[in-house]
Amino acid sequence: MSPKPSLLGLDRPGLEAVMEEFGQPRYRAGQVLDWLYAKRAPEFRAMSNLPSALRSQLEERFVLSPLRSDGDVHSGDTTRKYLFRLHDGRYVESVLIPASPARYGERSSRHTLCVSSQVGCAYGCKFCASGLDGFSRNLDAAEIVGQLLAVEAASGKRVNNLVFMGMGEPLANLANLSRAITILNASWGVGIGARNITVSTSGLAPQIRALADLPLQIRLAISLHGASDEVRERIMPVNRKYPLDVLFDAVRYYNARKKQKVTFEYILIDGVNASTEQAEQLAKRASSLNAKVNLIPYNTVEGLPWSRPDEPGQEAFLDILVRRGVQATLRREKGHDIAAACGQLRLRKEREAGALGACRT
Ligand code: SAH
Ligand code: SF4
Repeated sequence: MSPKPSLLGLDRPGLEAVMEEFGQPRYRAGQVLDWLYAKRAPEFRAMSNLPSALRSQLEERFVLSPLRSDGDVHSGDTTRKYLFRLHDGRYVESVLIPASPARYGERSSRHTLCVSSQVGCAYGCKFCASGLDGFSRNLDAAEIVGQLLAVEAASGKRVNNLVFMGMGEPLANLANLSRAITILNASWGVGIGARNITVSTSGLAPQIRALADLPLQIRLAISLHGASDEVRERIMPVNRKYPLDVLFDAVRYYNARKKQKVTFEYILIDGVNASTEQAEQLAKRASSLNAKVNLIPYNTVEGLPWSRPDEPGQEAFLDILVRRGVQATLRREKGHDIAAACGQLRLRKEREAGALGACRT
């Protein structure tokens, strides 16, 4: 028997169609959305201004959340990782990253949620934990939206910044991604401003163009990690399909349609992409697209041979970019100690159990 779908995957027209099918007036769709997103009803029974027959119909056909919470882990720096079980027994993770007061002001209430878009990842970047066990499946829109609602319910925090930097390649799941973003952004939905939603991609050029054509001012981050084809290809197989020139053409197309600057994510891996020469090439490439650069010291992944350059090495790389006039930052990763930092999210439950256990001791 296939599982009941979740209401969280329906946009407004979708819900209106359901109401019509149930013989209900259209405005009921607005009431249901209000219960889901403004009032955060925990169950259908709580939707008190709906006729009880409609509540029963909804309950028969749908579930509210497609996720079951399966624990969470704190890190020393207040980052928190949440694990969710899906209807088919698979798992995904989301990471809540509270504001750094130094950066956003003492009373800041910036809460960033890093969500997953797939179970596993097919792109096999050589440095990344998410790709280690291959790809299982796409998340549907409800499973993406559901991560946010479940984390908010569990943490008591309101998420106001969303990054698609968890497990998976969001642009390889574009239909579900764009539906989820519509629901997350809409005033009838979660209501997160498009400028506070960032999609990160390993560089799927055709999908970057498709994203550019969507009528949403969301932000785009590109996992670059190499400033020449030779270096990038060594660590990111996707570069063979979409080499830098092809990728940059797509980003130019994106730039022509969006107001937001694109960000290049660039992990610093010792002996691979962190040389002076790569920094010089990166500066040229970033300038050519007016892109920002986010340098991320590599987070160690068990079983992988890579490591980060020492701090003077990281600073020297940053200096070259800054001297060439590139807007660049060097990020100190959060959540490193609970394997919740970028690229540390892994597919398998057994591994998770190990990580969670290790963390609690
Ligand atoms: N698949 C998309 C979205 C995942 S984002 C993408 O690759 O952009 C996850 C980010 O963490 C990416 O920028 C990825 O390159 C980076 N990352 C992967 N492994 C990492 C590691 N070990 N240390 C630091 N960053 C890593
Ligand atoms: Fe997949 Fe992104 Fe990890 Fe590459 S960096 S394996 S695309 S999640």
